[in-house]
Amino acid sequence: MRRQLLLLLVTGFFLSCSTESNAAPNSSQPTDGWKELSPAQANVIEACGTERPFSGKYLKHKEKGTYTCARCGNPLFESKTKFESGSGWPSFDDAIGGALKEVLDKDGRRKEIRCARCDGHLGHVFRGEHRTPKNTRHCVNSLALDFASRPMAEAYFAGGCFWGVEHLLENQPGVIRVESGYMGGKAENPQYKQVVTGRTGHAETVRVVFDPTQTDYQILAKHFFEIHDPSQVNRQGPDVGTQYRSAVFVADPTQEGIIHDLIKQLRKKGFTVNTVVDQAGVFWPAEKYHQNYYKKSGKAPYCHAHTPRF
Ligand SMILES: [Zn+2]
Repeated sequence: MRRQLLLLLVTGFFLSCSTESNAAPNSSQPTDGWKELSPAQANVIEACGTERPFSGKYLKHKEKGTYTCARCGNPLFESKTKFESGSGWPSFDDAIGGALKEVLDKDGRRKEIRCARCDGHLGHVFRGEHRTPKNTRHCVNSLALDFASRPMAEAYFAGGCFWGVEHLLENQPGVIRVESGYMGGKAENPQYKQVVTGRTGHAETVRVVFDPTQTDYQILAKHFFEIHDPSQVNRQGPDVGTQYRSAVFVADPTQEGIIHDLIKQLRKKGFTVNTVVDQAGVFWPAEKYHQNYYKKSGKAPYCHAHTPRF
């Protein structure tokens, strides 16, 4: 028994995420909509700490659903990709497209994984261990995770003022929630008053979280092309500036393929499409007063309406 325990500990040591890691980035200031972290969670997510092996609440968790970032709610891993690695930390052999970013650890050897949305530390990724057909182990701290018992996927659309885009997407079947925010620029923690100058490179963007068993990316993307005017360049109706450009930020090659195909279909039908297709980066949620603007104000969108185009 003692020998088994020793073997387990030794194995755990070699498979482990590490207690040492890169320093926490300064970019992760609390943002509207992010959850308040416990000291133990902050030690992992902000200070790149590691929870004790075999101590996390999601290690043996087997429910069907989606693991999300404990800080910002970004869907990270589907339960079907979870496997028992014996390492002492929850392990996943795949991540949701665009959910993670990988950075070289300070040790120059391992790849650290961070939430692509809030830059929070999650753990490390190891490849080439031949543990699953995907040959990949995302080794994640339970403290960096939350769980939702339904499948989730994401889409990012920019089509002028985010109030209207959010409003016209949030009642679509299968949509779980829509948030207004900023993407596509370099400024970290952008504020509305900076974005509105047009100098941050960010576009007013909505993040659509949806249940892929109830709808799909193509249905939502088609709707997006019908609720704004994709022919306009760096403007949408009365709103002028690069922050109002028509853009889709794609999280993976499948989304990219769908968008290019839809653009091709529209052009074949004679529509002009000036929508920019870019890779999804960090999504910065906008200030609270921008969220659900039309629902809260009781007003109607001033420059977005549904126009059938497909
Ligand atoms: Zn996050």
